[in-house]
Amino acid sequence: MASRRTGALRSILLAAIVVAAGFLAWWTWHTSAALATLGERSVIDSTALLAREKIDRVESVIIGADNAVFHLIDPDDLDDLTLRWPGLADRISPTIRGLLVLDEGGQILRAVRRHPTDDPQRLPWLYRALRDELHLDDPAGYHRHLHGTWGGQRVLVSHLVGHQGQRRYHLLLETDLDYVLNELLPRLFDDPLTRGRFNVTDENNRIVLGQSLSGLGDFVVSARFPTTLYKWRLAMAPGSAPELGVRARRRRVAEGGYVLLSLGVILAGVAFLVYAVRREERANVLKSDFIATVSHELKTPLSVIRMFGEMLATERVHSAEKRAHYLAVIVRESERLTALIDNLLDFARLERGRASYEFVSADLGLSVAQLVSLFCERQAREKPAVVFEPVDEAVPVRLDTRALQLLVFNLLDNAFKYAGESETVTVRVTRQRGDAVLEIEDRGPGIDPDDQRRIFERFYRGRAARQGQTRGSGIGLALVKHIARAHGGAVSVRNAAPQGSVFRVTLPLDLSREGEQDLPSDGALG
Ligand code: ADP
Repeated sequence: MASRRTGALRSILLAAIVVAAGFLAWWTWHTSAALATLGERSVIDSTALLAREKIDRVESVIIGADNAVFHLIDPDDLDDLTLRWPGLADRISPTIRGLLVLDEGGQILRAVRRHPTDDPQRLPWLYRALRDELHLDDPAGYHRHLHGTWGGQRVLVSHLVGHQGQRRYHLLLETDLDYVLNELLPRLFDDPLTRGRFNVTDENNRIVLGQSLSGLGDFVVSARFPTTLYKWRLAMAPGSAPELGVRARRRRVAEGGYVLLSLGVILAGVAFLVYAVRREERANVLKSDFIATVSHELKTPLSVIRMFGEMLATERVHSAEKRAHYLAVIVRESERLTALIDNLLDFARLERGRASYEFVSADLGLSVAQLVSLFCERQAREKPAVVFEPVDEAVPVRLDTRALQLLVFNLLDNAFKYAGESETVTVRVTRQRGDAVLEIEDRGPGIDPDDQRRIFERFYRGRAARQGQTRGSGIGLALVKHIARAHGGAVSVRNAAPQGSVFRVTLPLDLSREGEQDLPSDGALG
């Protein structure tokens, strides 16, 4: 009950971690995107501010010139204007190209060209072209601009209304757009912040000054001239726009990458945690089974020893033959007990990470042959027969003798336990591509593919072993694997044809001893 509750709590916690990690990733991404947008916004805002200021300056130059000329006019003495203005124009009204003074009814009183070379017909033509759009009824003090294209020509005209006593008069001032485009605007934009990063477009979106800003994306701001050149727009981009654009794109990619990476790491961590917990749970179940089996394994031979010992102690066994048999049983069971306890102690050392090996140079063929012989001497059963295939070459390796015995005995013991019906168990040692190979092959039932994947795990026992109640503790093959790895090798299993299993241990050849003649290589028993 308690473990089910812990399990539920753990699932909830893990789900909460995943949700929290997802939320954190989203929040980080969102916040950094918002900060970046804020940064970009402030760059755009300050560019817009600068554009506004430039527009104000252009307009104030144009309007200032209008006013300067307006103040120069005395409608009763227009000759004075004609004489004085062209001389003063460069200083007080450099933007104005020519002027017309009209009476209240719209009759031209005076037309003055700034440059004598200008076409004398231009001002009258301009008046005719704009006449319908002029508000001649407007009161004195009125100041308005007419901007656009008339007769295929770009024109900006200021219309001011003044009065002399009760009489109103009109002043039309033509702005010199060539001057505005070629001198005024270039001068205004000739600073490091804006140089090369602006343009002016007309009502048809044609660039009249500056260069195309396409490709600078979100950083381009544009605004109209509100009063004077109102058909035109000014567009501006910060000097660092291309770099900012690239950096913004790169930052977005990098931030996305970091967020995904962190999320990936967290999810991988959680997945690993789940895997580790599951594994540990499985190991705990196996451990409980292990304790039960080991207790049973220890108890059975002890009961036999005790029973036969007691019978001998009562001296009721008179036949010498029987006594010898009882004694043999006691010895055999003690050896079984010793083997089991050895396995357990070695396993405990491995579990604590204290296993230590003493490697010596040896010939694998010879060592295995001796161990097979020792195993057979201790084995009471006649079948299966262990056949050691002769080795026709030296197989030099570095090995720990006691560990090798543990490895070989465990594999042979398993062959006897699980493949007892085999006629033979074959043991062979060969050299294969730089490796020393030991194979133990039986003709038993073989191993289920699902079990093959797990039999080298500690405490794991095959389904057949559990169901068939074969004695065992599930640590033999874990020990074999550990020993093989400690020797720099590996162990694997496959099913044999037509039936049975082949356990294959590979160890690295000790090539430093290659060519030494004193290594026995025929598998002779010691
Ligand atoms: P134990 O023999 O104590 O159960 P092991 O670690 O030695 O533990 O073996 C693990 C499992 O591998 C066994 O329970 C058995 O199912 C399977 N196994 C080992 N050797 C053989 C074999 N030669 N033939 C069939 N199954 C085997």
